[in-house]
Amino acid sequence: MIKETEIVCPPGQQEDESVIIRLAAASLNIQPKSISAVKIVKRSIDARGRKVVYRMQVQVFLDQPYQPEIFTIKYPNVQFSRPVIIVGAGPAGLFAALQCIQLGLKPVVVERGKDVKQRRRDLANINKQGLVNTESNYCFGEGGAGTYSDGKLYTRSTKRGDVNQVLKMFVAHGADESILIDARPHIGTNKLPQIITAMRESVLNAGGEILFDTRVTALLVEFGKMKGVKLATGEKLTSDAVILATGHSARDVFEMLHHQNILIEAKPFALGVRIEHPQEIIDRAQYHCEHRGPDLPPSYYNLVEQVDDRGVFSFCMCPGGIIAPCATEANEIVVNGWSPSKRNNPFANSGTVVQINMEDVPGDNNDPFKMLRFQQQIEHAAFLAGGGKLVAPGQRMVDFVEGRLSNDLPANSYLPGTRSVELKEILPLWIHKRLQKALPVFGKKMKGYYTNEAILVGVESRTSSPVKVPRDKETLQHPQVAGLFPCGEGAGYAGGIISAAIDGINCALATLKILS
Ligand code: FAD
Repeated sequence: MIKETEIVCPPGQQEDESVIIRLAAASLNIQPKSISAVKIVKRSIDARGRKVVYRMQVQVFLDQPYQPEIFTIKYPNVQFSRPVIIVGAGPAGLFAALQCIQLGLKPVVVERGKDVKQRRRDLANINKQGLVNTESNYCFGEGGAGTYSDGKLYTRSTKRGDVNQVLKMFVAHGADESILIDARPHIGTNKLPQIITAMRESVLNAGGEILFDTRVTALLVEFGKMKGVKLATGEKLTSDAVILATGHSARDVFEMLHHQNILIEAKPFALGVRIEHPQEIIDRAQYHCEHRGPDLPPSYYNLVEQVDDRGVFSFCMCPGGIIAPCATEANEIVVNGWSPSKRNNPFANSGTVVQINMEDVPGDNNDPFKMLRFQQQIEHAAFLAGGGKLVAPGQRMVDFVEGRLSNDLPANSYLPGTRSVELKEILPLWIHKRLQKALPVFGKKMKGYYTNEAILVGVESRTSSPVKVPRDKETLQHPQVAGLFPCGEGAGYAGGIISAAIDGINCALATLKILS
C-alpha cells in the first residue's frame, strides 16, 4: 500500500531518510518499522513563520518496495527520416530536435554560435576585455541564452504543456533528480553545459545533425510554402518544415523576415535595471535571522507593485549570483544574471523592470521595429554612459530614488566594471519615475531591501522579445508561410527555459502533422 502525507522537516535534515521515515510515521500515526520506503514528491522552504522549515509531500510505501523511476530515453534512429530544419539551438530548438527524433523525424539544427566548450572562450573575452563576439556570446551559441544562465526551471505558465516532461528530459541528460521535487528547481551555470552536451549527443547518436558556426540568412519560400533555408555560406538546406527558434536577440532574423515580406509585429515588453544586494541582506530579511547558516540555501525574493498603471516587478532573481554582460553587439549594454549550482557568490541580483505598453513608446504601432528600436536606443545610451568596454552605468539605490549621483559604487559582481552615472540619463522619465516610486515600497515589503548598499546596474532590456512572429493557434504555422513554425522566446511564445522547451516540443509535434 502507498500512502501520501505532508511532513515538516528542520533544515539540514531534509535529505536524511531516517528522519523522513520518522516524521512520516508520526504524521500517519504508524510505526516507523512498518514503512519500507519513502519518496519525496514535492519539497519547498517555508520561511513565513519565525522558524524556517522544509515542507515536504511524501509517498510512504507500506510493506511494498519502492521502484525508483529510471530516467533514460531510447531514441530511434532517424538518419534517413524526413528532415525538419530547426534554426537555433537554444532550449526551444534543442527540445524541438529531441521531440522530432521521438516522432521519427530527422532534426537538422542550424546554430550561428559555437558549441558550449568553445563558447566559453568568447565569454571570457566579454568578461575580461569587454569584447563582444556578435556570433558567440551569452545569448548565441549551443544551448542559446539558457546555457550560461541561472538555470531556474520554473514557469508561471503551466497551461502550455507538460513541465514534468521537460524536467524529466533534463534529468535523462544528467540533471540532478532534485529538480523533479523542488518547488523552485535550479541547475546552475556550471552544470548546464554538460547537460546541453548530452542533449547534443542524443541528437547526433540518433542520426540528427547539428551545424555550429552556421547562420541562416534567408528562408526559402515558394508559393507560400516553406522549402528550406539559405546559410551565410550561400549553401541551401531543404525541408518542408522549418522551426524558427532564434531567440529574442537575433535582430537580423527580424530584419530578414521583414525584408522577405513575412509578417512580424511589434510587441510590448519590460525594461529596467538589474539590482544587486549583498546576499546576507536578503537572507536576513527572508529567514529572519542574523546568519543563514549552513543548512539553508541562499534565499530569493519576488517583488511586484503596480505604479501609475504599470507593473514594476523583480524578474529572474539569482541568489548567490553574478550580473552578466549579455550584449550581442559591440555598442550596447545589456545585463542579466546567472548563478552557479551552489549559489555561493556573496551577492543576490534580480532584474527589476517596468512593463512597457505599446502606447508608452512614441511612433506607429504598425511599425514592427518600433519597440525594438526603443530597446536598442536605451542599450546604446547605457553603453555610452558606461564609457565603453562593456562598463555598465550604476547607481546606489537610495541615491537613485533621491536623485543624486553616487559618490562611489559598492563592490559588485559585474566583471567588466561599473561606473557611477545618474540612471535618469539613460532611462526614459516614465520608467525612471516608476522605479523610483517602487523601490521604497519594496523596502517596506522586505526589511533591509531599500538600502544604499544595493546597486542598480543598467540596463535590463531583454526581458522578452520586442517583436512577435505571428502563427496560427492550431497549426502553429505562420499565417503567410505553410511549414514555417515561429517558436520560442524570439517569436513571442516563451519567456524562460521551461516555456521555450515546451514550445519547442509543441512545434515539433505540429511539424508531424504536415510531414506525415
Ligand atoms: P535562445 O535561448 O535565445 O536561443 C536562440 C538560439 O538561436 C541562439 O543559440 C542563437 O545563437 C541562435 N540563432 C539566432 N539567430 C540565428 C540564425 N540566424 N541562424 C542560426 N542560429 C541562430 N530563463 C529561465 O527560465 N531561467 C533562468 O534562470 C534564466 N536565466 C537567464 C540568464 C541569462 C544570463 C540569460 C541571457 C537568460 C536567462 N534566461 C533564463 C532566459 C532563457 O535563457 C531564455 O528564455 C531561453 O533561452 C529562450 O530560449 P529560446 O530557445 O527561445 O531562445
